[in-house]
Amino acid sequence: MEDKAGKRNPNWTRDELILALDYYLDHRNEDPRPHSKGILHLTKKIAVVSRALGLASAGVTLRNPDAVEMKLRNLSAHDPLYTENGRTSLNRGNKLEAILWNEFSDRPSELKRTASSIIALSGSTETTSTAENEDEFDAPEGRLLTRIHLYRERNRTLVKRKKASVLRDAGRICCEICGFDFLETYGERGRNFIECHHTAPISSLGENARTSLKDLALVCSNCHRMIHAGRPWWSLEEAKAVVAARSLPLGY
Ligand SMILES: [Zn+2]
Ligand SMILES: [Zn+2]
Repeated sequence: MEDKAGKRNPNWTRDELILALDYYLDHRNEDPRPHSKGILHLTKKIAVVSRALGLASAGVTLRNPDAVEMKLRNLSAHDPLYTENGRTSLNRGNKLEAILWNEFSDRPSELKRTASSIIALSGSTETTSTAENEDEFDAPEGRLLTRIHLYRERNRTLVKRKKASVLRDAGRICCEICGFDFLETYGERGRNFIECHHTAPISSLGENARTSLKDLALVCSNCHRMIHAGRPWWSLEEAKAVVAARSLPLGY
């Protein structure tokens, strides 16, 4: 699809497809009709999200109801319930639809939670702060929630309070996953240095606007990077388990 300037519409994003898949699973037995109330409503929600992501400027709707209906049909091609009676769908769309189908179709309540968080936060100013490497970090739950996660764990006031409280209780600051201590390794320059990771499940970010100290974990830069380096992101416990399993002394 091309607009007046001849630019191609950007590909569908995870965020937009999450909303579409959530709708699809709720309306699995219906033939999607363009311009039905449901699809018009979904089209509007998708427009809000694509604007929040900066894909479209204010007032511009990237995906019209026909495009949304087509996407729902693409998704049905991945649905065993749809294809089991010999029905076939137009086409399977692009790779991302298959990936999202595999990631979310058997977890409809998690998907719904994610979709609601995306909608709830698409008007938030937190989403305007883009992170330098958000491409690399994109969670399965989409870019918008990734931005919120990265924004919240960089909250300076909270990070300062977190470090102070750990220092007060434990007497030192080290990585909760691997135990790395910046002061010990780098000397004075490393004093008070550590990163914070926001531990609340990313799908639930829309439910709680306030970050509390217990949502933050102190992690070294390597461990933090690794948590975010693959999909799905590791939980703190998963990261700890991997590091612990690999650091068994030789001879085990
Ligand atoms: Zn670490
Ligand atoms: Zn993080």
